[in-house]
This record gives sequence, C-alpha cells and structure tokens, in this order.
Amino acid sequence: MSYAFLSGYRVQAAARQAVEAGAEAEAASNRAERAVQRLEDVLARHALVLKTLLNFCEKRGLFNEPEFLRMMEEVDLSDGIRDGRYKPGAEPKRCVACGRANQRTAIRCMYCGEDIPDRAII
Ligand SMILES: [Zn+2]
Repeated sequence: MSYAFLSGYRVQAAARQAVEAGAEAEAASNRAERAVQRLEDVLARHALVLKTLLNFCEKRGLFNEPEFLRMMEEVDLSDGIRDGRYKPGAEPKRCVACGRANQRTAIRCMYCGEDIPDRAII
C-alpha cells in the first residue's frame, strides 16, 4: 500500500501555510506603512505649527533665532542628554497620600483622588 498521497497532502498543507503566512506578512507590512504615513503626516503638521509659531514670535520681536537655539539647547540638556531631543523621564509620580504610582501628567491620584503637586506638563 502506498502512502505517497500523504506526502503530497503534507506538501500542499505546507504550501497553504506558506501562502497564508505570506498574506499575513503583507497585511502587517501594509499596516506598518500606513502607521508610518500617519506619523509622517503628524510630524509634518507639527513642523508647520512650530515654524508658524517661530515666525510669528520673531516678527513680534519676542526672540530671534540665536536666542531660540540657545533656549532649545537648554531644554535639550534638561533631560540630562545632549542629543537634539527632549525626552522627559518616564518616572511615575508617587501619590503623597497612598504612595501608589500615577502617570507623570496625572492631576489627581487615580487610586485615592489626592492632588498630585508638580505634575509634568508633557
Ligand atoms: Zn493616592
């Protein structure tokens, strides 16, 4: 008795699995591309808002570009690393009443409702 058909069945099953895996990978790739596109759109929008704000402030005489760059360097260094980025620490805020951790930006403790002083703005 020959069981060659079993081998053929296994090959077909493996081929089907490979095709499904390929389709899943393509769908994941498409989702990632859309996510990157959305992030690029948000970034471009933020760049527009920032450039508009800078131009407006300069025209109003609030500061000039060198002053702005010096302040930007100060902010860059405020997180302890000169890397051209601002990355606030991820340390959670401890509630003074119950001691539990809350988000850095929390206004009140999500467990007991106590006000959280000195919360992070961003
Ligand atoms: Zn609390």
